[in-house]
Amino acid sequence: MPAPSSASQGGPMTTETQAGPAFRRFDGADIWLGLTREEQARIGAVAIELVASWRLRQRVYEDQLSDILGRAAEAAETLLTRMLTMEVSEALPDGALEAEDGVTPRVPLLLGGICRDCGCTQEDACPGGCGWAGEDQCSTCARENAPAAGRIEL
Ligand SMILES: [Zn+2]
Ligand SMILES: [Zn+2]
Repeated sequence: MPAPSSASQGGPMTTETQAGPAFRRFDGADIWLGLTREEQARIGAVAIELVASWRLRQRVYEDQLSDILGRAAEAAETLLTRMLTMEVSEALPDGALEAEDGVTPRVPLLLGGICRDCGCTQEDACPGGCGWAGEDQCSTCARENAPAAGRIEL
């Protein structure tokens, strides 16, 4: 009599989302390493000037500097935001924003963990606060998904 393999996992695949992380991530550091020096130089310069324009607007506000300066700061911010979007878009390899299937959008890696059930993050916790119950599930969702089988409350 053949011994049944304990590793055998017959049966249809579940219809739930595939195993593994719920969200494909966009790794900016990895993309950066693949850019040319010229692309890095353009993006870097624009990014630094964009932050400088935010700081300038902040100073105009806090120190009540002239409207003339504020007007220029605002224009700089608008321009540099547009330039940063353009420079990065041109430098990104084709399809970099989507997963291997070419459709699923990637989520920025630096955001950190994302709850697969509610989308909460370190930056945007559930009302009342939550922590991580698992690698990609927050404590609020872990509690809500834990009740006795057959009981669904929304
Ligand atoms: Zn959650
Ligand atoms: Zn949460």
